[in-house]
Order: sequence, then C-alpha cells, then structure tokens
Amino acid sequence: MHPRNRHQARYDFAALTLACPELSGHVRANPRGEPTIDFADPVAVQRLNRALLQVHYGVTAWTIPPGYLCPAIPGRADYVHAAADLLASDTDHPPGTDPNAVVLDVGTGASVIYPLLGAREYGWQFVATEIDPIALESAQRNVAATPDLAARIECRRQPSPTAIFRDVIRPGERFDLVLCNPPFHRSAAEAAAGTNRKLRNLGTSRTGSSPVLNFGGRGHELWCPGGEAAFLRRMITESIRLPDTCRWFTSLVSQRENLPAIERALGAARAVDVRQIELAQGQKQSRFVAWTFLSASERRTWLTRARG
Ligand code: SAH
Repeated sequence: MHPRNRHQARYDFAALTLACPELSGHVRANPRGEPTIDFADPVAVQRLNRALLQVHYGVTAWTIPPGYLCPAIPGRADYVHAAADLLASDTDHPPGTDPNAVVLDVGTGASVIYPLLGAREYGWQFVATEIDPIALESAQRNVAATPDLAARIECRRQPSPTAIFRDVIRPGERFDLVLCNPPFHRSAAEAAAGTNRKLRNLGTSRTGSSPVLNFGGRGHELWCPGGEAAFLRRMITESIRLPDTCRWFTSLVSQRENLPAIERALGAARAVDVRQIELAQGQKQSRFVAWTFLSASERRTWLTRARG
C-alpha cells in the first residue's frame, strides 16, 4: 500500500461501529477471532464504506443505490495517492502541497469515490463525469451531503457513452490530472462471470444466475463494448486533441494483458512521456498508465500559467 494510505492497519471496528451503529449487526469474528464482515454481503460492505468514509474522510451519509458498484476504499485511495506523487513529480514541492490542482474523474460512479478522497486528502477541485443518470444522481447526493466538499466537486453528465472528454470539457478549461477506472468487461455476460469468480474467491456459495451483490453494477458500470482495452483506445484517441488541456492523463488498467496494446496506442499517439505505475494491496496487483503530451519544461510552464 502507498505510505500515505490511511488503511495500512486492520479496520478499527470499535471506532467504525461507533460512527455508524448500523454496521454493528454485520460484524462477526473471523477464524482467528478478529472482527470482520461478510465481504460478499452488499449491505454489510456498503455500511462499512459509509463508516470508513465518515471516520477517515469526514464524509457524511454516503450511500449508493442497490446493485451499483461499491468500491473497496483502500484500493481507490492508493490510486489517488500515487497520482498525487505523479503531479508532484513536475514540481519541487512535496506531494499534496498544491491545493489548486484541478482533476477530471471520468466515470465517477454512484460512489463518487475518487472526488471524495481527492478533495479531502489533497484539496483538489473535481469535475466528475458519468453516463448513467442514476449513478450521477447518487454521486450528486453524496457530494451534497458533505457541504465543505460540495464546493470542490462538480458532477457532469456525459451524454454519449462512447465519448470520454468530448462534450464534458468546456472551452478554456484545463486539468492537471485525469483519473479513470474504466468499465473493464466486454459484455454483461462476462461481467456476471467475473462477479461469480470473485464470489468463489471469497468462499461464498452464492454463485447463482443473478449475482447482484456488492460487486454488482448496472449496465455500463462494469462493461462497455470492447471492454477496458477499447475504452482506453477511445480515451487515448480523444486525448491527442487535448495536449494542452490536461497535464497528465491516467487510467487504471485492470487486465495486465491489455498493457502492450495500450503502450502501442500511446506510442502511435506520440505521447511525450508514458508511465506505468504499479499499485499493490496484499495479494492484489493493479496498475495505472499515465501519459502526457507536454515535455517536463512545458509542464512547469503549464503550471505557472494555470496558477497565475
Ligand atoms: N469511479 C468509480 C466507478 C467506476 S465504474 C469507481 O472506481 O468505483 C465505471 C463508471 O464509468 C461507471 O459508473 C459507468 O457508468 C461510467 N462510464 C462508462 N462509460 C463512460 C463514459 N464514456 N463517460 C463517463 N462515464 C462513463
């Protein structure tokens, strides 16, 4: 885990249930006698998230509609912290000392998780995009529930599911960073199979035909035509037209086998700097790719201009 991640230790269930009493009924002992919850139970996971967001990030009354993607907070935080390091690598300052950074979160989800974490940890300003109207409404509700964060996060509807930046970036807007956790499956059937596999790994027997558990997700949440690879290709293609609009483009890549094609696409797009940043939590290995069309000195000039 990233050294600044707040979730290095085991969850403090005493503090969490104090902040969120409705979590209490879900806490049980694992085989070693330590408190835990059933991670295959969507209600339990949602309440755990609400408690974690409240205790660690001062986010109040967080909820998501049933069946929508429920993020694992430590992993999402790791991406935010590593992205803060990436931004700081263009400056002489330590990570997180630029509270004026402006970030675009592509596909924010019902949870609006990256804006909540990034605004709280680093004071970043966010524009968060979403194609699913129900997810968007939930994101807006979650933002509004914590007024001091609400001023820093604006949610916008992306009208076209195949567009990434088009129609959501307004003329003259500039972003230090793009974050994205793309839909990664190629079809609804593949998404369902992936969910069943996750549940099997958790050792549950609930692998029936409609696995709408905490790994559930509606429609476009978990899949898009062509899956993660096609989403990234579209993102790279659109980014070519925005060399001076975004300082760093990034996206998670959940499937390692997609990396070579992504690297080739970035090469063909003539990205000036391409980085692959590993994220690791326990057994789970993940990564994000980052690219920019600006040289190191252009990025410094960009910063001076953006910050006046
Ligand atoms: N950021 C959240 C949700 C990731 S799931 C998290 O990490 O948990 C991917 C999200 O992208 C879904 O909510 C889906 O509806 C949305 N999405 C799919 N295509 C999109 C597009 N072209 N523009 C914006 N959002 C999109």
